[in-house]
Amino acid sequence: MNPISPEKPLACWKGSDRFEEEVVSTLTVILKTAGCTWNRCRMCSYRNVRFSTAGEEQSNDLVLGQLSWVKAKQRLDTVDMVKIYTSGSFFDPREVPPEAFEETARLFSGKVVIAETRPEHVDRNRVAGFISHLDSARWETPLYVAIGLETTNDFIREKCIDKGFSMAQFQSAAEEASRGGAGVKAYLLMKPPLLTESEAISDMKSSIQAIAGTVDMISMNPCTVQRNTDVERLWKQGAYRPPYLWSVLEVLRHSPVYVGCDPVGGGHARGPHNCGTCDYDIVKGIRDYSLSGDRALLDSLFHISCRCKNEWETVLSLEKPYCMPLTGRPVS
Ligand code: SF4
Ligand SMILES: [Zn+2]
Repeated sequence: MNPISPEKPLACWKGSDRFEEEVVSTLTVILKTAGCTWNRCRMCSYRNVRFSTAGEEQSNDLVLGQLSWVKAKQRLDTVDMVKIYTSGSFFDPREVPPEAFEETARLFSGKVVIAETRPEHVDRNRVAGFISHLDSARWETPLYVAIGLETTNDFIREKCIDKGFSMAQFQSAAEEASRGGAGVKAYLLMKPPLLTESEAISDMKSSIQAIAGTVDMISMNPCTVQRNTDVERLWKQGAYRPPYLWSVLEVLRHSPVYVGCDPVGGGHARGPHNCGTCDYDIVKGIRDYSLSGDRALLDSLFHISCRCKNEWETVLSLEKPYCMPLTGRPVS
């Protein structure tokens, strides 16, 4: 590896995940990079943490430095799977230039890698090149390209999230990843701003239904209120509330396929939450389900009794959507 001084990634931690019906040990690495080319999604604060002046050579060195840190500080021999995120897209060569890209594959050789990216950066040759350095023949599919599809509804993706790509672009990126030899993971976002609780549930149910069987893995992220985002501004105005944990359970228990879910910030005002009394048990239960895949656990959680269940049911039946002008355009 390049003799570049190690620098700690934005975050790096060990945990466990469900993969191919088993629990595997994982390392999650969030690399600080030159940042997201899109840089507009309403709920995202990672895009604000970037090396704003980094050119290609500097970006390369900065990523190599973070890989050196991972190599020095983490016992990689105890890890089966590595999940990689950046300040934007791992497959954007502006963020992760070729040398650092190849070094990442070599460092994690023999593991399953899940790397997140926007669809426009997925290129079959780069995907195949990464796999050629990563693959040790231990796993049938050693690389999964993960894309924040968020919803299968183009209108919600555009108006509520400002994500900047369509379902059709997601599908061609998924095709491109497959042609390069990778699997595909889709991240869904539950309850972006401007949706009612009930609309958010319907959106997730129909999104899961639409992509079940067409992607290899689905993970649903209940929306959290991150700092310096549009979502935070709305939340401070009382115009946004993260989803109820009841809603999360409602979606997961009706899903036709296994959907992983880690309710980040669960039980707190900025994360998915209920009343404060029942939150701990439900958040823990959802995390347990994500590892075990045990549907019966979701049903028993949904049927625990708490005074806030009534409130949630009332919200579902009474909350009305605010209207947005159909022809409105953002002005920058
Ligand atoms: S594409 Fe990803 S990194 Fe970029 S702004 Fe949107 S959520 Fe953030
Ligand atoms: Zn409660």
